Amino acid sequence: MTQELGITVRKDKKPSEWYTQVVKKAELAKYAEVKGCMIIKPYGMKLWESIKEEFNEKIEDTGVENAYFPLFIRESTLAKEEDIVEGFDPEVAWVTHGGDEELEEKIAVRPTSESVIAPYMADEIRSHRDLPFRVNQWANVVRWEATDTRPFLRTREFLWQEGHTAHATEESADEETMLRLDQYREIIEDHLAIPSILGYKPEHDKFPGAKYTTTIETLMPDGKSIQSGTSHQLGQHFAEAFEIEFEDEDSNTQTCWTTSWGLSTRTIGALIMAHGDNDGLRLPPSIAPVQTVIVPIYQEDNREKVMEYAEKVSEKLEQKGLRVELDDRDHRTPGYKFNEWELKGVPLRIEVGPNEVEDETVTTVRRDNSEKEMGINREEFIEEAEERLEEIQKGLYTELEKYLKENIREAESKQEILATIGKNRGYVKTRWCGKEKCEDEIKEEVSAEIVVLPFREDSKPASIQASDKHIDGECAVCGENAERWAYFAKNY
Ligand SMILES: [Zn+2]
Repeated sequence: MTQELGITVRKDKKPSEWYTQVVKKAELAKYAEVKGCMIIKPYGMKLWESIKEEFNEKIEDTGVENAYFPLFIRESTLAKEEDIVEGFDPEVAWVTHGGDEELEEKIAVRPTSESVIAPYMADEIRSHRDLPFRVNQWANVVRWEATDTRPFLRTREFLWQEGHTAHATEESADEETMLRLDQYREIIEDHLAIPSILGYKPEHDKFPGAKYTTTIETLMPDGKSIQSGTSHQLGQHFAEAFEIEFEDEDSNTQTCWTTSWGLSTRTIGALIMAHGDNDGLRLPPSIAPVQTVIVPIYQEDNREKVMEYAEKVSEKLEQKGLRVELDDRDHRTPGYKFNEWELKGVPLRIEVGPNEVEDETVTTVRRDNSEKEMGINREEFIEEAEERLEEIQKGLYTELEKYLKENIREAESKQEILATIGKNRGYVKTRWCGKEKCEDEIKEEVSAEIVVLPFREDSKPASIQASDKHIDGECAVCGENAERWAYFAKNY
């Protein structure tokens, strides 16, 4: 029984198989018939909906409204922005037929919606009074990737939100870009309990056509980095191509500055990998669909008494606003239930049996550190339940924070970068001249790249450009003058 239900490989030995088993056995998702597509099951969907709810609240509080744009884009529209097409063309899925008839112009399934939303903004924006103009959509997008696909981490169709804004000034667009990145940080760190590193993408790796791209990176236990959200300052490039203009206070026509920013179901992949262990998922209470599960332990002669007691505990916790599940399935043993809820990552398990009923107590087991506590007074427990969940949330974050700190290592030469990546993975912090060829030299040998150029701690992020020189010393690869710190890592 346990064999079949539980995870049969160790996370550190076979991370890839471990991941697939967790996704499947915790009932998050399954493969669909078309390669690279997935069925997100209700338990997995609840995670995404929780992220959606949290982020919606943040963006609505800061002036963004939700809308919906079409799945299909005309080829000529997509082609209008040449840079985008260059960046996405190999990955676009095309519709060539409508029913039996071949279409005169083929239609793209959106890989992103810049080229649809930009004309919309051009149409809606008239005057400086319309700015900043902000719109977001929750949608699916398709990128026909040929490489290995994995549920949540890399799928051809995935869910995301894409926010698009237009501004009167460069400063306003800079601020917007950073505000959204910071809101992603709040989601990733506070909601998902994963520490992160914020910064720019290198110039050659930014969103095609953007002024700059910012990223939030998280380090996975296998030492690889995941890009968990990006926010782009698009400059005036898109606004010029799509004529997104406004009339200023003196009735002069001006070109807008635009931004776009996106967070996808990939974050769920990061969540699974960051916190999961050999027994399955470990969910932070903030996002867990079930925060605490009550498992009653009874024999036939005391079933009624135990169940009555368990129901009372359940009701009281629900009244406190907790998401509670009382597992009253008669056909499953307590042992089976323990394993199943551990697999599904429920942060706190409550056990009640005849002893607990007698003493008016509960027994609890934390999912994050397996700590078992017996004989907790029932009323006290109910009173403190929220604090206990907060402790678990903090516990999960702190564990990863320690791991992250230990896995940023400095390197001062090419050999040292290669050796450090080879031996430890993680982030290798190094001085960099800003040239792509120095990154290529590393990439060729260990398939690690510059995943982030961390923000300077002593200045406002928005005021720095990827090309700004702000450190002394020499590039670890070529020995020329360094411009800034760069983090090399293997990535997903
Ligand atoms: Zn260099």
